[in-house]
Amino acid sequence: MAKSFDVAVVGAGLSAFHAVEVLAKSKKSVAYIHGFTFQEWAMAAAVFLNSPEEHVKWTSGDPEKWMMKKWTNVEYFLSPAETVNCDMKEITLMQKGPDAGKVINYKVLIVASGQNSPLLTPTAGMSLSERISEVRACGEALKQAKTVVFNGAGLVGLEMCGDFRARNGYGARVVLLTRSGKVLDSDFGDKAEKPDPKMVAKVTDILTNRFKIEIKEGAASGPESEQASLSPGTLKLDSGENLSFDVYIPCFSMGANTGFLKSSNSNFLGPRGTMLVNECMQSSAHPEVLGVNVTNKKLVGHPVTIIVSAAATHCAKQALEIVDGKPAKAFVPPKESIHPMNVKMGHGPGGYMVWSGLPGPAHVCCCLPCGGGYPFCPPPCCWCCLPGCSGACGTCGSPPEGEGPAVFMPALLAKFTGMHGFKGLGDYGSDIPQQKTMA
Ligand SMILES: Cc1cc2nc3c(=O)[nH]c(=O)nc-3n(C[C@H](O)[C@H](O)[C@H](O)COP(=O)(O)OP(=O)(O)OC[C@H]3O[C@@H](n4cnc5c(N)ncnc54)[C@H](O)[C@@H]3O)c2cc1C
Repeated sequence: MAKSFDVAVVGAGLSAFHAVEVLAKSKKSVAYIHGFTFQEWAMAAAVFLNSPEEHVKWTSGDPEKWMMKKWTNVEYFLSPAETVNCDMKEITLMQKGPDAGKVINYKVLIVASGQNSPLLTPTAGMSLSERISEVRACGEALKQAKTVVFNGAGLVGLEMCGDFRARNGYGARVVLLTRSGKVLDSDFGDKAEKPDPKMVAKVTDILTNRFKIEIKEGAASGPESEQASLSPGTLKLDSGENLSFDVYIPCFSMGANTGFLKSSNSNFLGPRGTMLVNECMQSSAHPEVLGVNVTNKKLVGHPVTIIVSAAATHCAKQALEIVDGKPAKAFVPPKESIHPMNVKMGHGPGGYMVWSGLPGPAHVCCCLPCGGGYPFCPPPCCWCCLPGCSGACGTCGSPPEGEGPAVFMPALLAKFTGMHGFKGLGDYGSDIPQQKTMA
């Protein structure tokens, strides 16, 4: 029998968490279709795909450790949405996991199911064992590979290149494929400025001369270009050239994870599965459906997570208004940097990081001994750090770039996890990997 809720939220990332966090403060009933029995911190994917030993640090396999018990009006569902019939306002869960096959009705729906990035993020319906096997297979293939092709020279592609070199050394040929022939050529949205040419030149120089990465102009548009391959193959470029590889990893989004949304209204979804929404982030076809990070309204700015979290909070507030029969308000994004504020080419020793928009106090406070630094302790906390300062982050009195800031990055990344609702990381729980343990 179907169970009814005021608001349902579909997604397992930080968007869904921040939306539910707001809804939990209301008196409305909330269905949180988390869809997995584990949590994984997406921002560390370049680290653990290159070094599967580190995967567990960024994963929690025990729902008891991350489910928010104090949210008494929220019910978690740990099976993913298989279909959402938007005409009927009805969600049917997949025949997998603890809540297999359940049916949920909603008054308002928030779709926060993220972007389709095979391998970089787990596929909906995957068990933790399956994900561990996938991550290990990737790490093993990268370790053995003689030629690796990363496709896409946006922020994720650059991280993959740097983490590959930092963790797998310099034995393999690494090709970074880019449509424009340039790095940082992602579409940052209509209102975004092009990345600073000086930054593009600097990153190109570091990749080419320090990391020995071949930056190759070219694009591939066949379906095989959208699937990662951990075994040898050939990528056919649009120019007709064939590019052979041992491992191929696309580092761009294949579109929004909205394949489960069904509607009789043909104006519901646009190209690449984007949900067509108005300025309130509300579907034009189904006004009781809101979307975060899956819509035609590009979330412009950096850090991406700040904008995405703000959009999620906005959608939750509008959902409460809509349930009460009130109109939704337009989304006003926070004023964040329109350039990437940092570029990471690898985390930890052997990596390289460039800060371009480091806030003032961070120049003095961003140090290792405090295990976090600004903005997690109020300035002038640098007084506490100075006596024991390792200088490793490279931001004190020296240019905010280099291996030092990269060494500092995993600690900073770990600080962000709790802020975005990822608790209990570092524990696979009782989910014993099926595959033999890696040496
Ligand atoms: C390698 C990497 C590095 C990054 N580095 C940075 C960085 O340094 N700074 C920064 O600001 N941002 C960074 N990002 C981007 C950041 O991770 C994303 O902006 C953020 O994760 C988006 O959150 P989200 O919740 O919208 O989507 P996601 O994190 O993708 O979460 C959506 C979740 O919903 C799940 N889902 C899909 N379908 C269903 C379904 N049917 N039912 C239930 N659940 C479903 C998905 O499997 C997924 O787990 C990085 C991303 C990657 C991949």
